[in-house]
Amino acid sequence: MITVMKFGGTSVGSPEALQRVAKIVMDEKNDKVVVVSAMSGITNFLVSLADNIGDKDDAVKQFEKKHLDTASHILDAKQMQEFMKEFTPRLNKFKTLLSDENAMKDPYFKDNVTSQGERFSSLLLSHVLRAEGVESVALTSEDCGIFAEGRPLSGSADLSKTESAMAMNVKPYLRKGIVPVITGFYGIKDGVPLTFGRGGSDYSAAVVANAMNADLLEIWTDVDGFMSADPRIVPDAIKIDEMNFGEAAELAYFGAKVLHPRTIEPVRRKHIPLKVKNSFSPEEPGTIIHHLRKPKDELLRSVAVKTDLSIIAISSAEIAFHPEMVARIIKKIAENEVVIYSISTSLSTVAFLVHNNDVKSILLKLNALESGDIERIEVKNDVALVCAVGDNLLSKCGVSGDIFTAVKEAKANVEMISEGASDVSLNFVVPMSRVIDVVRILHKKYVGEDAP
Ligand code: ASP
Ligand code: MG
Repeated sequence: MITVMKFGGTSVGSPEALQRVAKIVMDEKNDKVVVVSAMSGITNFLVSLADNIGDKDDAVKQFEKKHLDTASHILDAKQMQEFMKEFTPRLNKFKTLLSDENAMKDPYFKDNVTSQGERFSSLLLSHVLRAEGVESVALTSEDCGIFAEGRPLSGSADLSKTESAMAMNVKPYLRKGIVPVITGFYGIKDGVPLTFGRGGSDYSAAVVANAMNADLLEIWTDVDGFMSADPRIVPDAIKIDEMNFGEAAELAYFGAKVLHPRTIEPVRRKHIPLKVKNSFSPEEPGTIIHHLRKPKDELLRSVAVKTDLSIIAISSAEIAFHPEMVARIIKKIAENEVVIYSISTSLSTVAFLVHNNDVKSILLKLNALESGDIERIEVKNDVALVCAVGDNLLSKCGVSGDIFTAVKEAKANVEMISEGASDVSLNFVVPMSRVIDVVRILHKKYVGEDAP
């Protein structure tokens, strides 16, 4: 039996946290493979460094000090010596990268710089485990063969290539009882690092679980699991014990910040259950996400929100009869890998829901579309998407009616609706100014206090 255990930035962010994590790893009885994020704050630091390489000497010193201070807090002199044997060459490589004029011109330079944090946090945790008497090896994505494809800063894993490589490069350690600690966040494309987007270590861990054909993936973070709503909006939000892959994927995608939105897919494909656990209170059961979940009677399970969105509505006579035009518009919008959160059409209008920050570039692109056919483009900024997730929402009679009655109570106007695309969620758009009330009322009526 294999368990893949992923620890996030705060879980490896201090000597105390690292020791807590070592204990959690030791308590796991199965064969285990560990995946880590960078220490908290480090990736942000590297992002600014990549943007302004000017003060690199000072930056490298700070970076070095942070990791060495942490290591020397836990390791004794002899263990420190062993640690330095691996630390120094990694640091030298990092320094070389920062002064390599050719590397700087590479479109993947920022991926390379920002992937550095994981290389050092994995080393730290591996040595902390060794200090506790656990045989362990720190492996980079290069060592493992985690292959990636895609554009800079938004890679995806090549699952089948990664599976073959990891069978050769990582499985042998497990057979010898050695615990691999692997870098999250990036894979390798044509020999250089390609990152999976911010927060991408969760996705890395799911890729590793898929490649290792693990029996369980555990994502260890700093909260107790998925909640029925964002506790900052709804203070009495409750923890969700169990979800299926579909529900978790919708929630992660549409706003719950617990998991990187792409974490579900690699494990769902192989029916590998996923647990979200709190490394600061490991005794809590967390949330389990798996294939089969006993259906419950509740109307709603969770309400998530994605804010700072805009609706772009494009009008043209009888657009519904010109699917090729809709296709051209979508292709144009998608060119820069813009995420379209929802699409809705009528006879003469097609509306897209996108992030506020993407509006400007989309409008430029649409203007470049040589098509006299677009009659009007309207933009409504500052809207929010509410994602109401529950069991078989679609097959329950009257659910939409109930939900929209609650929205009306919050005095919110529904600007756009998407229902039917997924049988576990009903998504709709309201103005940002009303969204908090909408979520609170929905939660109170259907999840919390007044739920039937
Ligand atoms: N360290 C990376 C980030 O901060 C990846 C992760 O934490 O999952 O985005
Ligand atoms: Mg994270």
